[in-house]
Amino acid sequence: MKKIVVALDGFSGTGKSSTAKKVADALHYIYIDSGAMYRATTYFMLANEVNLDDHDAVAASLEGVDIQFLGSQILLNGTNVSNEIRTMRINENVSKVSAIRQVREAMVAQQQQIGRERGIVMDGRDIGTVVFPDAELKVFMTANPRVRALRRQKELLEKGIEEELNTIELNLLERDKIDSSRAESPLIKADDAVEIDTSDLTFDEQVHKIVELAKEIIHADRD
Ligand code: C5P
Repeated sequence: MKKIVVALDGFSGTGKSSTAKKVADALHYIYIDSGAMYRATTYFMLANEVNLDDHDAVAASLEGVDIQFLGSQILLNGTNVSNEIRTMRINENVSKVSAIRQVREAMVAQQQQIGRERGIVMDGRDIGTVVFPDAELKVFMTANPRVRALRRQKELLEKGIEEELNTIELNLLERDKIDSSRAESPLIKADDAVEIDTSDLTFDEQVHKIVELAKEIIHADRD
């Protein structure tokens, strides 16, 4: 059967990652959380006290960053950092790191390599525009900021992290601003992406919608 690439982009906290994971399960595809790669890189930079304003230093230290996925875990130089990359400290620094050209080039190259045989669902900010501009299905997810903050708060609570709703909302909006206005592959909707506002959709509804769109494309050649 034809294998496609599903690119899921959108603002922070629109539920991209959890949706993408479910869509991948339903299609029996690989799921890659590209944001986790930027987060793991940020974690490495902070742990090694790299000056994030010194782009040459960040670029040079990328040599020490090896990111692998093992099921739902993300490994940084062989260590599972899946929980460590979800803290507010990472949230506050990740957009700065991900705006650096050399960081993006390294991540995009690895993402393209992982998806070279298709059969993949990847979520992020530039998947449909830069990483896989030829993706057969591109979805751009939006939701109003309060809904997004509430979802993120719930996600953090499930990991035992308590955080004020306003702090989360401000961080989401700040990241949206940096992500949308950066010079290097800013967050924009690809012309051929389907936009889905998830504010009033349940999780199952948004998953169902995307799976149906994917199946239409996968089965289109059979007719
Ligand atoms: O998706 P998530 O919120 O985990 O992403 C964290 C951050 O990583 C984003 O705010 C953005 O700065 C960056 N990112 C990116 N490009 C991607 C995925 C994430 O710049 N493809």
